[in-house]
Amino acid sequence: MHTVTLIPGDGTGPEIVDATVAVLEAAGAPIQWERKEAGLTAYEKGRDLLPEDVLESIKRNKIALKGPLTTPVGTGFRSVNVALRKELDLYANLRPAKSYTGIQSRYDNVDLVVVRENTEDLYAGVEHMVGEDAAESIKIITRKGSERIVRFAFEYAVKNNRKKVTAVHKANIMKYTDGLFLSVAQGISEEYPQVKFEDRIVDNMCMQLVIKPQLYDVMVMPNLYGDIISDLCAGLVGGLGVAPGANIGKDIAIFEPVHGSAPKYAGKNKVNPTAILLSAVMMLRHLGEMIVAKKIERALAEVLAQGTRVTYDLGGKATTTEMAQAIIEQL
Ligand code: NAD
Repeated sequence: MHTVTLIPGDGTGPEIVDATVAVLEAAGAPIQWERKEAGLTAYEKGRDLLPEDVLESIKRNKIALKGPLTTPVGTGFRSVNVALRKELDLYANLRPAKSYTGIQSRYDNVDLVVVRENTEDLYAGVEHMVGEDAAESIKIITRKGSERIVRFAFEYAVKNNRKKVTAVHKANIMKYTDGLFLSVAQGISEEYPQVKFEDRIVDNMCMQLVIKPQLYDVMVMPNLYGDIISDLCAGLVGGLGVAPGANIGKDIAIFEPVHGSAPKYAGKNKVNPTAILLSAVMMLRHLGEMIVAKKIERALAEVLAQGTRVTYDLGGKATTTEMAQAIIEQL
């Protein structure tokens, strides 16, 4: 039995989290949940946005499944999502993008994995005005940060029987920062002769992905390129409602959908549970629960392929709970 911290989140978060918990329980996944409130739901009860017991629970269990958390704009409210990644040093953002029959998209056989560095680059937040009419943002790339993310990508490739890692960069222009990232990637690739290695300049990478995504497998890149390319890849396989993700550190991992809390649909039992369910499937694989992970993914794939009991964004009329029920019946 694995104990997992469960953060339902807010907006539509609790609805898709409940649907996911129901599917995992019906599939017999050996999980015991430790439910914790963070973000708006905690704040409205007079607690911290990121209460200490939530962090403690994640540190103790080393694993969490998380619904989306709203970050209100213009209130000085800091993003709990970003705080969690920083506090727990979750340096790798893993975003698979895979086609499923029944989900309308441009290609049928996409199976990509974006490994995005989560802590450095232009996201380090070193930004300031220079006088009144100019602004500077400093791009930080370190050898340590590059080594651990590239090693993560190769280890992921080996464990998941992936054949190729592509390092994405703009080292032709940013010779120091991206140059360092690329040279670290080239060095580490020599330790993994069983995995093919290549590099692509980021603009060319975007074009290649749009024209022939089947040529790529695992891609590893600094933070900003990762942000953009992972959404591009989500778009290639049907968009946000089906895009799972994980933030992973040395010992701790948080699994969560890429999408946000979709507040306009909160309480309407309407949104698609697929992205968070696929995140839970990634979590089960991370825990070594391969058989139950496969069983759930197959049942979901079958419901998607039938296309009748799916949510509005996939062209169906099912509610969140009806779609979850269809998956449970398929199990
Ligand atoms: P969003 O992802 O919530 O919504 C974007 C669009 O996608 C909307 O039209 C929404 O209805 C739709 N959508 C999202 N999830 C869906 C699903 N599961 N099924 C069907 N349709 C879905 O993005 P946003 O509106 O920019 O952000 C809303 C809030 O979420 C903001 O406060 C933002 O800060 C937060 N957010 C949180 C996370 C996170 O917790 N990791 C990630 C992104 C955004």
